[in-house]
Amino acid sequence: MSGLALDVAIVGGGIVGCACARAASRAGLRVAVFEGERVGAGATAAAMGHLVTIDDDPAEFALARLSMRLWREWDGWQAIERRSTGTLWLAENDAQRGAALAKQARLQAAGLEADWLSPNDLRGVEPRLARNLAGALRVAGDEVVFGPEMAARLAADVRAAGGRVDEMRAVAALHDGGLQLADGTRVSAGHVLLAAGCDSARLWPGDSPLALRPRKGQLAITDRHPGYVRHAMVELGYIAAAHGDADESVAFNVQPRASGQVLLGSSRSFSDTTPGVDARLMARMVRRAQRFLPGIGSLQMLRCWAGFRPATPDGRPLIGRVPGRDRLWVATGHEGLGLTTATGTAAVWLDLLLGRTPEIDPVPYEPARFEKAVA
Ligand SMILES: Cc1cc2nc3c(=O)[nH]c(=O)nc-3n(C[C@H](O)[C@H](O)[C@H](O)COP(=O)(O)OP(=O)(O)OC[C@H]3O[C@@H](n4cnc5c(N)ncnc54)[C@H](O)[C@@H]3O)c2cc1C
Repeated sequence: MSGLALDVAIVGGGIVGCACARAASRAGLRVAVFEGERVGAGATAAAMGHLVTIDDDPAEFALARLSMRLWREWDGWQAIERRSTGTLWLAENDAQRGAALAKQARLQAAGLEADWLSPNDLRGVEPRLARNLAGALRVAGDEVVFGPEMAARLAADVRAAGGRVDEMRAVAALHDGGLQLADGTRVSAGHVLLAAGCDSARLWPGDSPLALRPRKGQLAITDRHPGYVRHAMVELGYIAAAHGDADESVAFNVQPRASGQVLLGSSRSFSDTTPGVDARLMARMVRRAQRFLPGIGSLQMLRCWAGFRPATPDGRPLIGRVPGRDRLWVATGHEGLGLTTATGTAAVWLDLLLGRTPEIDPVPYEPARFEKAVA
């Protein structure tokens, strides 16, 4: 493979690497993805699969909106396993009701459909919810998908456009002008993109350490109960849990899967770096879920698993040039939103690489921002 004429070599075949590869190959660039295991087997396989227009941070909102539009424009969109569930943001009390109404105003101002459901309305649309909730904000347009399938389809698009997606080909090092595979093969490329999720820190060629920490998350899936819930539902406290820096947190999050199963999330933990499921934390998640869905404990949980979200200190991804390196790029750090924001990430990265002005402001995602903060 030495001397291969590549415009871009991409490290990592998760949803982010595959979306970037697809965007670049569609722009006519010669692309190869090197994936150390299987396409979509990292955080992408562990995810809940909620495509959700998070709006609490303006930069994240801009990236999520761009991404949702690009997902819908993707040729593969109609073919993937997908449910247009919308999202119910559940309010437990008046303070959360106020937060939900502020969220509604922000979403509506951006042209998104969001309506407030009173406790009575809520009973009509989700009869299994607890009776003592303060209501919910229903956001149309959010979706439930299956991440590994999306990554595989994006990879298939790359191959169909003449690009390469090589599995079981781990990368050992990056350098200007290419990379070196773990088997010693050297690959030449005009540009290299590091999109290795949580493992990006190991290959990071920057001078200061990469500002990225793995944040463990656990999920559980039940037996088939079609119609048990109809919407993706998230407690409003989820945002505080996701953006907070607590070492350990749980927040209620549930989805109806296309299979009829109920997918239950989720936890966040920095200090636990072991791959297995923590039964104590899982029990805490189920207790939290019972606050909202009192009957959920009676469903049979078929499987539990854990994965790691690539988390940056400010919760925003890193998209752009490795500081001080012209031809080395990075796209990682999407924490719990990488399935949603992979397409927007790819668009911003590709525009920067091609010297075009991205559709949204790329400054909030600059990889150099943490180095600047230290300087
Ligand atoms: C429990 C949980 C729930 C989540 N729920 C959601 C959700 O509902 N909605 C949402 O939008 N997001 C969600 N996420 C977040 C989402 O899964 C991630 O943000 C996203 O998958 C990150 O994609 P990635 O491509 O950057 O990383 P990954 O999917 O981890 O891909 C990186 C790839 O790089 C490969 N790699 C690593 N090192 C090397 C190397 N040296 N050489 C070659 N290849 C290498 C890995 O094998 C891996 O396949 C969730 C995450 C978790 C853990």
